[in-house]
Amino acid sequence: MSDEWPQVSFEDRMSTVEFRVHERAHIVVDGAKCADCSTRACVVACPANLFVPTSDGGIVFNYEQCFECGTCYMVCNEEGAISWSYPEGGFGVVFRRT
Ligand code: SF4
Ligand code: SF4
Repeated sequence: MSDEWPQVSFEDRMSTVEFRVHERAHIVVDGAKCADCSTRACVVACPANLFVPTSDGGIVFNYEQCFECGTCYMVCNEEGAISWSYPEGGFGVVFRRT
């Protein structure tokens, strides 16, 4: 018997994940605060790549495919730039067993 875990592709892992999107965004980004940000830490830290810098210094953010990991909130150094909460009950990311 092998001690190694079987290789599972990113696509196969993501095929077990479901996003139940609520109409209310559970994370809101204040673009005015982002204008003064020098790190843009959210852009590299978000595992779902949901923060996209724009050419005018802003940030475009979409909450729909959020893993609810909280990393963006932890790494952001501008107070008030990110308002973070969990989605309403029954909504948000669902990690399913294969
Ligand atoms: S969300 Fe926070 S880390 Fe990301 S660009 Fe705005 S201020 Fe910077
Ligand atoms: S909670 Fe995690 S997945 Fe969701 S936006 Fe923040 S870093 Fe990205």
